[in-house]
Amino acid sequence: MQMENQGRSRKDVLEDLWRILQEDEKYEEGTILSSMCTKPLPIAKTAHQMFLASNLGDAGLFRGARRLEQEAVRKLADLLNGRDSVGFIVSGGTEANLLALWAARNSANVSSPEVVIPESAHFSFDKICNILGLKAISAELDDTYRVKPEAVARSVTSRTVAIVGTAGTTELGVVDPIPSLSKIAKTHDVYLHVDAAFGGLVIPFLEPAERNALAFDFSLEGVKSITVDSHKMGMAPIPAGGILCRNQSLLNHIKT
Ligand SMILES: *Cc1c(COP(=O)(O)O)cnc(C)c1O
Repeated sequence: MQMENQGRSRKDVLEDLWRILQEDEKYEEGTILSSMCTKPLPIAKTAHQMFLASNLGDAGLFRGARRLEQEAVRKLADLLNGRDSVGFIVSGGTEANLLALWAARNSANVSSPEVVIPESAHFSFDKICNILGLKAISAELDDTYRVKPEAVARSVTSRTVAIVGTAGTTELGVVDPIPSLSKIAKTHDVYLHVDAAFGGLVIPFLEPAERNALAFDFSLEGVKSITVDSHKMGMAPIPAGGILCRNQSLLNHIKT
């Protein structure tokens, strides 16, 4: 049997895919007005293609890819003032938030665990609370759509395993008062997770005065973990999100 009789030609398949691709809106045509993602950098596309067969689930075989992952994590950690922080590149912000709350839940080890989450938080937290058996306690916003620290403080109980704050909400790009949340977390000895999926690769590049007014990273002592999506403002191909933990001991809680 000849090869060309098996299946469809490459040309046919590519033509089909090209037609299907025309159904998608394109960044360069200006018809995408509210996406958090961007077109990947050309070099990022090439890099992605070079490592398509590398499986980080088997780091012993794919040592180079593992080293690259660690380097990417190190670079993100440096941007976020995480001197001892460790982490992974995962499928996106949703998985990163899941890993963070998983670590928080396991490290607290309380029954009927709760998480205090701003009303403006990303919808992934609803799914994550369902998956992890966490009760979401919703904290209200002020009239600038930032979470009210008093509302967060009021919602903390002995069952609280984490407080969540957002650095760059998906809809409005608003940054919660993370320094205040950090103080509350320290006072109550509760885990603070910062979801910077969207803002984590924007805020570090602002002018110093603006950046200081939007403090959200590991320089705040209460911050235990940060989500930062390379496939949003980092111009990496989808899927690539980062999860960083302040130190290795937190990650030990999700070793299975
Ligand atoms: C996009 C986003 C997420 C989810 O990230 P995915 O990469 O889509 O899984 C979580 N939080 C915020 C604030 C986001 O903007």
